[in-house]
Amino acid sequence: MGITSILACAEDDRTTAFARAFDEIVSLGEGDARDTYLDVEKIVEAARASRADAIHPGYGFLSERKALAVACEAAGVIFIGPRPDAIELMGSKSASRALMERLGVPVVPGYSGEDHSDATLVRESARIGFPLLVKASAGGGGKGMKIVARPEDLAAAIESGRREALKAFGDDRLLIERYIERPRHVEFQVFGDGEGNVLHLFERDCSLQRRHQKIVEESPAPRFSDELRERMADAAIRAAAGVRYRSAGTVEFILGADGSFYFLEMNTRLQVEHPVTEMVLGVDLVRAQIELANGHSMPWKRDDLSQRGHAIECRIYAEDPDNGFLPQSGKVAHYREPSGAGVRVDSGIEEGSVVSVKYDPLLSKLIVHAETRELAIARLRRALDDFTILGTKTNLPYLRRIVRHEAWIRGEVGTHFVAEHEADLLPRAVDGAAEIASVLIASAGVEPSRRDTRRQALPSVWETVGEFSR
Ligand code: ADP
Repeated sequence: MGITSILACAEDDRTTAFARAFDEIVSLGEGDARDTYLDVEKIVEAARASRADAIHPGYGFLSERKALAVACEAAGVIFIGPRPDAIELMGSKSASRALMERLGVPVVPGYSGEDHSDATLVRESARIGFPLLVKASAGGGGKGMKIVARPEDLAAAIESGRREALKAFGDDRLLIERYIERPRHVEFQVFGDGEGNVLHLFERDCSLQRRHQKIVEESPAPRFSDELRERMADAAIRAAAGVRYRSAGTVEFILGADGSFYFLEMNTRLQVEHPVTEMVLGVDLVRAQIELANGHSMPWKRDDLSQRGHAIECRIYAEDPDNGFLPQSGKVAHYREPSGAGVRVDSGIEEGSVVSVKYDPLLSKLIVHAETRELAIARLRRALDDFTILGTKTNLPYLRRIVRHEAWIRGEVGTHFVAEHEADLLPRAVDGAAEIASVLIASAGVEPSRRDTRRQALPSVWETVGEFSR
């Protein structure tokens, strides 16, 4: 775009792979995230000192904090995102639920009224029915969330939910809603001009989650009718237009097995999984955000936007899937990315990078695009096989097992997928062997396909013998 990019980063991050992508760097000093990436004043001061016109908050840290948007306004720096009031309203589960009810957007049957007392929650639970879910009003990341199967378990869930919510958010208000069994998570990308005009950029299915953390996201949603797509898109637009939404945002829904859907929350920022939408629609969401912030009008018209082909994203985390998904740290000794037509890797690491447990364990995102879901899956498998990260353990072997699972291939997705198929997703000896074979081949300087190694040489022997390597 011809715009000079400046990175505000912690001193330790100056020499990272992602820092090199910028024209200039401003240091936020030493310390942990609270002293750097979460310090509103320091960030705004960095913008002022480097004479930046605007701040893009990304999708972590302060990206959904009203305080940053307010501080930017006060300092005369453009905040690339929604207005502070929209961030605040959508940040509260109770307030946003109440607004959705007014706008006629379906919400999960539940109670999120003003009276948060235990007695009221217990009384309302009888009306809502069991199983139900206790949630923190200020919630996020699944914290404070409890499933309650029977009335006699409610009191204990309220007590521990309050304790957790107070600790995590400094706010012990709770709401309760019906627990939807075996649902899907389907969200709509939206984009607003801040004047009440909102376009939707279709859906992403993000049902594949582990402990409420997304692992695999795709678009179009599999096994999803045009009629349902239209009704959900309509609700998403109503939700965003209701706050005169500005910039890119996501309206999340929970979709029941019977086709009923309910508003979950709105994320007032770019999502981690936004490349899925970019690849299917052929758009650049960040560019659109910057152009809008720079005074342009809505970047597209309805007819410019259509889904072409299928895109799938896998999140690569520094965690050990064979050992309770324990967060991992260490130096990346060997790193090789897949490439080729329809393959995109958004990565924060390279060979020699140091992975610390100080931040989120997300290392890289692999996104593939192809004409159909079937072809996208084939491309994804090949790309995951070609992705090698050594030195720190990752969930790559786990992802390789997911994308070979028959039920997932059939599109039978749901938020319970991982729990339901736990046994099928357990490690097999061949995983580690393929990884080692790839390094041996690479260091020998020969380039035979490691897929041949996997398919022909290894599985027959290794699988019959079993997991003797462990
Ligand atoms: P948080 O803001 O803490 O991430 P959300 O309300 O966005 O919480 O919900 C996170 C996940 O929890 C959803 O993606 C879904 O898998 C599950 N979930 C939330 N509400 C319900 C519900 N009423 N019934 C069943 N599952 C739910």
